[in-house]
Amino acid sequence: MSISENIIRFKKPLPSNVRLIAVSKTKPIETILEAYNGGQRIFGENKVQELASKYEQLPKDIEWHLIGHLQTNKVKYIAPFVSMIHSVDSLKLLKEINKQAEKNNRSISCLLQFHIAQEETKFGLNLDEAKQLLSSSDFAQMKYVSIAGVMAMASFTKDVEQVRNEFKHLKNIFDTLKNNYFQNNPTFKEISMGMSGDYSIAIQEGATLIRLGSLLFGER
Ligand SMILES: *Cc1c(COP(=O)(O)O)cnc(C)c1O
Repeated sequence: MSISENIIRFKKPLPSNVRLIAVSKTKPIETILEAYNGGQRIFGENKVQELASKYEQLPKDIEWHLIGHLQTNKVKYIAPFVSMIHSVDSLKLLKEINKQAEKNNRSISCLLQFHIAQEETKFGLNLDEAKQLLSSSDFAQMKYVSIAGVMAMASFTKDVEQVRNEFKHLKNIFDTLKNNYFQNNPTFKEISMGMSGDYSIAIQEGATLIRLGSLLFGER
Protein backbone atom coordinates (compact mmCIF):
# COMPACT_ATOMS: atom_id res chain seq x y z
CA MET A 1 0.00 0.00 0.00
CA SER A 2 1.28 3.49 -0.84
CA ILE A 3 1.87 6.11 1.83
CA SER A 4 -0.99 8.30 0.66
CA GLU A 5 -3.31 5.27 0.75
CA ASN A 6 -2.01 4.49 4.22
CA ILE A 7 -2.83 7.99 5.41
CA ILE A 8 -6.36 7.76 4.08
CA ARG A 9 -6.83 4.32 5.64
CA PHE A 10 -5.72 5.48 9.09
CA LYS A 11 -7.63 8.74 9.08
CA LYS A 12 -10.98 7.37 8.02
CA PRO A 13 -11.99 5.48 11.19
CA LEU A 14 -10.68 8.12 13.62
CA PRO A 15 -13.30 9.74 15.87
CA SER A 16 -13.93 13.35 14.80
CA ASN A 17 -12.22 14.75 17.92
CA VAL A 18 -8.97 12.88 17.25
CA ARG A 19 -6.35 14.37 14.94
CA LEU A 20 -3.53 12.43 13.34
CA ILE A 21 0.03 13.71 13.51
CA ALA A 22 2.21 12.01 10.92
CA VAL A 23 5.61 11.59 12.56
CA SER A 24 8.03 12.08 9.69
CA LYS A 25 11.36 12.09 11.55
CA THR A 26 14.23 10.60 9.51
CA LYS A 27 11.96 10.40 6.43
CA PRO A 28 12.92 12.26 3.25
CA ILE A 29 11.03 15.14 1.64
CA GLU A 30 9.59 12.91 -1.12
CA THR A 31 8.01 10.62 1.46
CA ILE A 32 6.43 13.53 3.29
CA LEU A 33 5.09 14.86 0.00
CA GLU A 34 3.40 11.52 -0.64
CA ALA A 35 1.59 11.85 2.67
CA TYR A 36 0.81 15.47 1.86
CA ASN A 37 -0.72 14.39 -1.43
CA GLY A 38 -2.84 11.92 0.51
CA GLY A 39 -4.30 14.90 2.35
CA GLN A 40 -2.13 14.91 5.47
CA ARG A 41 -1.34 18.41 6.79
CA ILE A 42 -0.05 17.85 10.33
CA PHE A 43 3.49 16.51 10.68
CA GLY A 44 5.61 15.87 13.75
CA GLU A 45 9.39 15.98 14.07
CA ASN A 46 11.59 15.42 17.11
CA LYS A 47 14.72 17.36 16.11
CA VAL A 48 14.90 21.12 15.69
CA GLN A 49 17.32 21.19 12.79
CA GLU A 50 15.47 18.55 10.79
CA LEU A 51 12.18 20.33 11.47
CA ALA A 52 13.50 23.71 10.30
CA SER A 53 15.02 22.23 7.17
CA LYS A 54 11.85 20.37 6.22
CA TYR A 55 9.76 23.47 6.88
CA GLU A 56 11.89 25.38 4.37
CA GLN A 57 11.48 22.75 1.66
CA LEU A 58 7.82 21.82 1.97
CA PRO A 59 4.44 23.50 1.29
CA LYS A 60 3.61 26.28 3.72
CA ASP A 61 0.15 25.03 4.63
CA ILE A 62 1.70 22.20 6.67
CA GLU A 63 1.23 22.42 10.43
CA TRP A 64 4.54 21.46 12.04
CA HIS A 65 4.56 19.99 15.55
CA LEU A 66 7.72 19.58 17.59
CA ILE A 67 7.28 16.35 19.56
CA GLY A 68 10.83 15.76 20.86
CA HIS A 69 12.87 17.23 23.68
CA LEU A 70 13.62 20.91 23.12
CA GLN A 71 16.70 22.71 24.38
CA THR A 72 16.24 26.34 25.37
CA ASN A 73 18.95 27.58 23.02
CA LYS A 74 17.20 26.06 19.99
CA VAL A 75 13.75 27.59 20.42
CA LYS A 76 14.67 30.51 18.17
CA TYR A 77 15.05 28.27 15.11
CA ILE A 78 11.45 27.08 15.16
CA ALA A 79 9.65 30.03 16.78
CA PRO A 80 8.83 31.73 13.46
CA PHE A 81 6.69 28.87 12.15
CA VAL A 82 6.05 25.98 14.56
CA SER A 83 2.35 25.22 15.14
CA MET A 84 2.66 23.37 18.40
CA ILE A 85 5.41 22.37 20.82
CA HIS A 86 4.48 19.13 22.60
CA SER A 87 7.48 18.91 24.87
CA VAL A 88 7.38 21.75 27.41
CA ASP A 89 8.89 20.31 30.56
CA SER A 90 10.14 23.37 32.45
CA LEU A 91 9.27 26.96 33.26
CA LYS A 92 12.64 27.99 31.86
CA LEU A 93 11.80 26.50 28.47
CA LEU A 94 8.33 28.04 28.44
CA LYS A 95 9.81 31.47 29.23
CA GLU A 96 12.14 31.17 26.27
CA ILE A 97 9.30 30.08 23.97
CA ASN A 98 7.30 33.12 25.14
CA LYS A 99 10.28 35.39 24.46
CA GLN A 100 10.92 34.02 20.98
CA ALA A 101 7.22 34.07 20.12
CA GLU A 102 7.08 37.75 21.07
CA LYS A 103 10.06 38.46 18.83
CA ASN A 104 8.15 36.88 15.99
CA ASN A 105 4.97 38.69 16.90
CA ARG A 106 2.96 35.50 17.31
CA SER A 107 1.59 33.18 19.92
CA ILE A 108 2.82 29.58 20.14
CA SER A 109 0.63 26.68 21.28
CA CYS A 110 2.33 24.44 23.79
CA LEU A 111 1.59 21.17 25.55
CA LEU A 112 2.97 20.31 28.96
CA GLN A 113 4.85 17.03 28.74
CA PHE A 114 4.37 14.59 31.60
CA HIS A 115 6.41 11.66 32.74
CA ILE A 116 3.96 8.75 33.00
CA ALA A 117 6.14 5.81 31.96
CA GLN A 118 8.16 3.54 34.19
CA GLU A 119 11.33 4.08 32.21
CA GLU A 120 13.76 6.47 33.89
CA THR A 121 14.95 8.16 30.75
CA LYS A 122 11.85 9.88 29.46
CA PHE A 123 11.43 13.61 29.94
CA GLY A 124 8.47 15.26 31.55
CA LEU A 125 6.85 16.96 34.51
CA ASN A 126 4.87 15.48 37.34
CA LEU A 127 1.58 16.98 38.49
CA ASP A 128 3.11 19.01 41.31
CA GLU A 129 5.71 20.54 39.04
CA ALA A 130 3.04 21.47 36.53
CA LYS A 131 0.92 23.09 39.23
CA GLN A 132 3.92 25.08 40.38
CA LEU A 133 4.59 26.23 36.85
CA LEU A 134 0.98 27.23 36.23
CA SER A 135 0.70 29.10 39.56
CA SER A 136 3.93 31.04 39.07
CA SER A 137 3.93 34.79 38.52
CA ASP A 138 6.31 34.21 35.61
CA PHE A 139 3.65 32.16 33.87
CA ALA A 140 0.93 34.72 34.65
CA GLN A 141 2.91 37.31 32.74
CA MET A 142 3.41 35.30 29.56
CA LYS A 143 1.38 36.67 26.68
CA TYR A 144 2.81 34.81 23.72
CA VAL A 145 2.28 31.18 24.65
CA SER A 146 -0.98 29.34 25.02
CA ILE A 147 -1.15 26.07 26.89
CA ALA A 148 -3.25 23.80 24.71
CA GLY A 149 -3.09 20.63 26.82
CA VAL A 150 -0.86 17.76 27.83
CA MET A 151 1.41 15.17 26.19
CA ALA A 152 3.14 11.98 27.28
CA MET A 153 4.68 8.75 26.10
CA ALA A 154 3.68 5.44 27.66
CA SER A 155 6.15 2.75 28.64
CA PHE A 156 7.57 0.67 25.82
CA THR A 157 6.05 -2.63 26.92
CA LYS A 158 3.74 -5.37 25.69
CA ASP A 159 1.77 -5.08 28.94
CA VAL A 160 -1.42 -3.55 27.59
CA GLU A 161 -2.90 -2.92 31.04
CA GLN A 162 0.12 -0.96 32.13
CA VAL A 163 -0.03 1.21 29.01
CA ARG A 164 -3.76 1.73 29.57
CA ASN A 165 -3.15 2.80 33.18
CA GLU A 166 -0.49 5.25 32.10
CA PHE A 167 -2.86 6.82 29.59
CA LYS A 168 -5.58 6.98 32.26
CA HIS A 169 -3.07 8.76 34.47
CA LEU A 170 -2.44 11.39 31.80
CA LYS A 171 -6.19 11.86 31.32
CA ASN A 172 -6.51 12.43 35.08
CA ILE A 173 -3.74 14.99 34.99
CA PHE A 174 -5.50 16.73 32.11
CA ASP A 175 -8.82 16.80 34.03
CA THR A 176 -7.16 18.12 37.19
CA LEU A 177 -5.38 20.92 35.36
CA LYS A 178 -8.51 21.75 33.37
CA ASN A 179 -10.55 22.09 36.56
CA ASN A 180 -7.95 24.07 38.45
CA TYR A 181 -6.41 26.37 35.86
CA PHE A 182 -8.29 26.29 32.57
CA GLN A 183 -11.96 25.91 33.43
CA ASN A 184 -13.12 28.74 31.20
CA ASN A 185 -10.40 28.37 28.66
CA PRO A 186 -11.46 26.39 25.57
CA THR A 187 -7.88 26.39 24.25
CA PHE A 188 -6.86 23.83 26.85
CA LYS A 189 -8.30 20.75 25.14
CA GLU A 190 -5.58 18.51 23.77
CA ILE A 191 -4.33 15.18 25.06
CA SER A 192 -1.40 14.06 22.91
CA MET A 193 -0.83 10.36 23.51
CA GLY A 194 -0.55 7.20 21.45
CA MET A 195 2.07 6.05 18.95
CA SER A 196 2.09 3.24 16.37
CA GLY A 197 2.11 0.50 19.01
CA ASP A 198 -0.51 1.85 21.38
CA TYR A 199 -2.67 4.41 19.60
CA SER A 200 -5.93 2.47 19.79
CA ILE A 201 -5.64 2.25 23.59
CA ALA A 202 -4.82 5.95 23.67
CA ILE A 203 -7.96 6.80 21.71
CA GLN A 204 -10.08 4.71 24.08
CA GLU A 205 -8.57 6.63 26.99
CA GLY A 206 -9.24 10.07 25.58
CA ALA A 207 -6.44 11.07 23.19
CA THR A 208 -7.18 14.03 20.91
CA LEU A 209 -3.82 13.94 19.10
CA ILE A 210 -2.15 10.68 18.13
CA ARG A 211 1.43 10.59 16.84
CA LEU A 212 2.01 7.86 14.24
CA GLY A 213 5.34 7.25 12.54
CA SER A 214 6.25 3.70 11.57
CA LEU A 215 2.67 2.61 10.96
CA LEU A 216 2.32 5.24 8.22
CA PHE A 217 5.82 5.40 6.80
CA GLY A 218 7.30 2.00 7.60
CA GLU A 219 10.07 1.17 10.05
CA ARG A 220 12.80 3.74 10.57
C1 LIG B 1 9.02 8.79 17.07
C2 LIG B 1 7.92 9.30 17.92
C3 LIG B 1 6.59 8.94 17.69
C4 LIG B 1 6.16 7.96 16.62
O1 LIG B 1 6.61 6.69 16.91
P1 LIG B 1 6.10 5.40 16.07
O2 LIG B 1 6.25 4.28 17.03
O3 LIG B 1 6.96 5.29 14.88
O4 LIG B 1 4.67 5.66 15.72
C5 LIG B 1 5.62 9.49 18.50
N1 LIG B 1 5.93 10.35 19.49
C6 LIG B 1 7.19 10.73 19.75
C7 LIG B 1 7.45 11.68 20.85
C8 LIG B 1 8.23 10.22 18.98
O5 LIG B 1 9.49 10.59 19.23
